[in-house]
Amino acid sequence: MNFLMPTEVVMGRRCIIDNASIFARYGKRAMLVTGAKSAKLNGSQEDVIAALKSQGMEYIVFDKIMANPTIDIVYEGAVLARENAIQLIIGIGGGSPMDAAKVIALLAAQDISRENLFGGKYEDKILPMIMVPTTAGSGSEVTKYAILTNDVAQTKISIATPLVFPNVAMLDASYTETLTMKTTVNTAIDALSHSIEGMLSKRANAISDLLAAESIKIIAECFKELESGQVSIVSRERLLYASALGGMVISQTGTVAVHAMGYSLTYFKNVDHGQANGLLMGEFLNYINEFEPDMISKILSFMNMNTIDEFKHKMATLLERIEKITEEEIEQYSKTVMKTGHIKNCIVTLDYEGVKRIYEKSV
Ligand SMILES: [Zn+2]
Repeated sequence: MNFLMPTEVVMGRRCIIDNASIFARYGKRAMLVTGAKSAKLNGSQEDVIAALKSQGMEYIVFDKIMANPTIDIVYEGAVLARENAIQLIIGIGGGSPMDAAKVIALLAAQDISRENLFGGKYEDKILPMIMVPTTAGSGSEVTKYAILTNDVAQTKISIATPLVFPNVAMLDASYTETLTMKTTVNTAIDALSHSIEGMLSKRANAISDLLAAESIKIIAECFKELESGQVSIVSRERLLYASALGGMVISQTGTVAVHAMGYSLTYFKNVDHGQANGLLMGEFLNYINEFEPDMISKILSFMNMNTIDEFKHKMATLLERIEKITEEEIEQYSKTVMKTGHIKNCIVTLDYEGVKRIYEKSV
């Protein structure tokens, strides 16, 4: 067994201000990588800047990261980091800004051509990274993945290397309080799918299963509040914790078919990532259940559920439906999915017809 999780996790309200000296460990010049708005609205950017100032550090802000970041934007960020001799990259936001921050840290430290960006052969050089998640979903603050939109492959593709494990993750759930309910729910379901898929991965091990079980339980305990539209700060803290656990899980296990299938819905139909996963998960569990019923019962039991239908009903209550997709589109997406490593990574290897059937029954 192998379990690698080199990221230092600091958690709690005001943890950025109270641990400002952590930033100073990594040099004098920092670059904040974030989206245009949310980090300013939820107070995270202000807290990071206050922490940097308290340590006499200089900083620049690169706030151009969009949802599902492109390859162009990370190269642009890396040029800026180099021009300003940046020593520390601070990613603030959901999965998109954090993933972009990781690739910027990589590209600022070494030359990688666009053709080789997803190749996995990198020199052992990267700028130090601190991540501040402001959603409870991607778990990117503790993963070795950075996911970008790849227009050549017409899907989202991940850069997977232990190099992009952040040095520090700083988790303060108060930044998630300004999220819309829709984002709160979708991101929680993304975290849930990380832990469920992690348990169904060939690479699952005793420690990843332990973390996955805990994460699934916590998220399911929050279903009621997520449904009610009122999520307390205590539950937000638990969701942020569960999301980080899910990130630790997939760093060991990778994700399986649900993520690969969801990427097509996101790429072509602009469906939110967590929503796509949640809508596909029920039928995926039905498929796996034919071969590994004990495993599925175990996962359902963590959510206090007896049947997959119960799970599907819960997802249907929590998530918005998406527009119908055509048979032609389903075939196209299924072909893309079959080319991914996610398929082989699952304890049950899905075939093309199986993938098609999951799409057909889910959307
Ligand atoms: Zn995900």
